[in-house]
Amino acid sequence: MARRRQLYEGKAKILFEGPEPGTLVQYFKDDASSANGTKTGVITGKGVLNNRISEYLMSRLGEIGIPTHFVRRLNMREQLIREVEIIPLEVVVRNVAAGSLSTRLGIAEGTRLPRSIIEYHFKNDALNNPLVSEEHITCFGWANTADLDDMVALTLRINDFLAGLFLGVGITLVDFKLEFGRLWENDEMRIILADEISPDNCRLWDSKTQEKMDKDRFRRDLGKVEEGYQEVARRLGILPEAGMRDLKGPETMQ
Ligand code: UDP
Repeated sequence: MARRRQLYEGKAKILFEGPEPGTLVQYFKDDASSANGTKTGVITGKGVLNNRISEYLMSRLGEIGIPTHFVRRLNMREQLIREVEIIPLEVVVRNVAAGSLSTRLGIAEGTRLPRSIIEYHFKNDALNNPLVSEEHITCFGWANTADLDDMVALTLRINDFLAGLFLGVGITLVDFKLEFGRLWENDEMRIILADEISPDNCRLWDSKTQEKMDKDRFRRDLGKVEEGYQEVARRLGILPEAGMRDLKGPETMQ
């Protein structure tokens, strides 16, 4: 790890000061936690895989015009990102019922939703990231209605694109969590995609067998956790036999 000033350490990542103003270095750890930090562990190689998977997905999203904080991958565990003011919301998108939606509303896990649902959770670990409505968000000033419109428009595009990308490699994108940030350029503010997109914050199921290839393997003690993350990278064509530096594209599965 480079000797840089550490700005923040989270559960799965560390942020360091970047080489130029307005940049940060995002370091991906192998540490895993769930149930709001009450269950912790290490998933060997997770940081390397999430760095690579998030680089790949953010780059593809950039190619279709989604603004993201990703600049470039620096090494196996670090990427250069643009510094943003994080909006304190977890934007969750759901295509298939699972997790908290199933437990809260009694909808059987695996039920395909008639349409994609966007949910907001207030990003606050001490409060267990509670589900909030637009009313709470605008009332407490976490974002205004124009910010929300931008986030929803981006989220729907991201969902359509990623659901198709994953389906092409035999994976169902069940649900995932996004975070957005404000980027200020010459007094103009833009909302851009931040954080990461990886099996830590997506539910990814094999389209044929429904086998889970994401952090639920850790959360629910299903075993073969490392293998799940590796399989996602392998299907995306970014887990090369020759090492992580090979950058070939996804292989399409029938
Ligand atoms: N998620 C996340 N961070 C959180 C909570 C959820 O990345 O703090 C992701 C999770 O991986 C899943 C989606 O958001 O893909 C929906 O999670 P859910 O609300 O079902 O919560 P969970 O069952 O994980 O507690």
